[in-house]
Amino acid sequence: MPASKSKQSSSKESAPTQSRKRGDKVTPGNLFVLTGPSGVGKNTIIDRVLSEAGGLVESVSVTTRKQREGERDGVEYFFTDRESFEKMRGHNHFIESAEFAGNYYGTPRNWVEQRMKEGLDVVLVIEVQGAKQVKRHFPDAILIFLAPPSIHELEKRLRGRATEPEDVIAMRLDKAGQELKERDVFHYEVVNEDVDQAVNNVLSIVYAERCRIKP
Ligand code: 5GP
Repeated sequence: MPASKSKQSSSKESAPTQSRKRGDKVTPGNLFVLTGPSGVGKNTIIDRVLSEAGGLVESVSVTTRKQREGERDGVEYFFTDRESFEKMRGHNHFIESAEFAGNYYGTPRNWVEQRMKEGLDVVLVIEVQGAKQVKRHFPDAILIFLAPPSIHELEKRLRGRATEPEDVIAMRLDKAGQELKERDVFHYEVVNEDVDQAVNNVLSIVYAERCRIKP
């Protein structure tokens, strides 16, 4: 199922994309990771970034979490069960995977590597443990930590979202406290106090990294 490319490429809206070519040579795309605690606004920010930055695509993860109302299989996630997930993980199907608040999440390897080969920049929107795995295996990946203005504000947003029962919110808040201590592992920090400003900051990072001279 996660191999369904047509679903994946049509899933997340982006401005018209184009591969970066120099003569006949395609320059491989960058790998961006947007990480940060649950509820900080990663999806809101990345949806806006995708609609403005051409040549950037978001990977669709596989998860064992229960599908929320309004979520579509193959769009927000590929939904699966634990047994199938473990099989995929055993077959090296994922670039990274993590267990978060009782559910598995993983990034499909083939789709991501293929898009980068085509010259597209790829962004993964994932939690902190997975981001650290990406850093280990893809030393050129660019890691952006999206931080809340404060833990109280994060709690307000998680409760306001009302997608999870109280015990799950408590678990996610506890996890957020640990994740906030790990920000030093990443290359950039963007504080999501004002959405427009956070979007601009992430876009600036994407554009700057495209201009960076690589060895
Ligand atoms: P949610 O259940 O709220 O959709 O996601 C929970 C957390 O898992 C969020 O922080 C989200 O960014 C993260 N996440 C989503 N997909 C992946 C993935 O493929 N790998 C990892 N490590 N985390 C993911």
